[in-house]
Amino acid sequence: MNLILFGPPAAGKGTQAKRLVTERGMVQLSTGDMLRAARTSGSELGQRVAGIMDRGELVSDDIVIALIEEKLPEAEAAGGAIFDGFPRTVAQAQALDDMLQRRGAKIDLVVRLVVDPQALMARIAKRFEAEGRADDNPDAFKVRLDAYMTQTAPLLPYYREQGKLHEVDGMADIAVVAQEIDRTLGETA
Ligand code: AMP
Repeated sequence: MNLILFGPPAAGKGTQAKRLVTERGMVQLSTGDMLRAARTSGSELGQRVAGIMDRGELVSDDIVIALIEEKLPEAEAAGGAIFDGFPRTVAQAQALDDMLQRRGAKIDLVVRLVVDPQALMARIAKRFEAEGRADDNPDAFKVRLDAYMTQTAPLLPYYREQGKLHEVDGMADIAVVAQEIDRTLGETA
């Protein structure tokens, strides 16, 4: 089972992905986490993307596609991946389909967490206080939200046309969101 958790930043994708990892043994492929790890390690890649990430802009398609491709065998061995924060552009979605197809696999399901942008601003302000992530500051967050609206949301019709898109109310309690995702996964399995 290959699942995409889809939604704007701070919609709760990471929280739900981590739960699915614990409960189902799936592998979470979060390009945001991979890029943050690259920064922490001080690698050349990390240094290259630091400014872009702190401004809230998207890093180039080539970089994130390569990061995902490297992890696909591990996900395949675990029986499936949860794509979290990837794909974010049409080019990434097409590359993902191609990479999976070459491995005889596909995206089975796209779960969109539907959230209210105003509420997101409040959520992020809290996370900024708690975790101090540079790209959670209000200016960078606005850029991230804009990137979602202009570059990522256009992927919705791409998956809707394939009959893979399921919408879940991301404003509900975490446990309710979890229940809805599990129900959708049960219907797809
Ligand atoms: P996230 O934790 O998923 O919100 O990602 C944090 C930041 O990493 C984003 O604001 C982008 O700068 C970068 N990033 C993560 N995933 C991608 C992606 N799929 N495409 C481009 N940039 C990404």
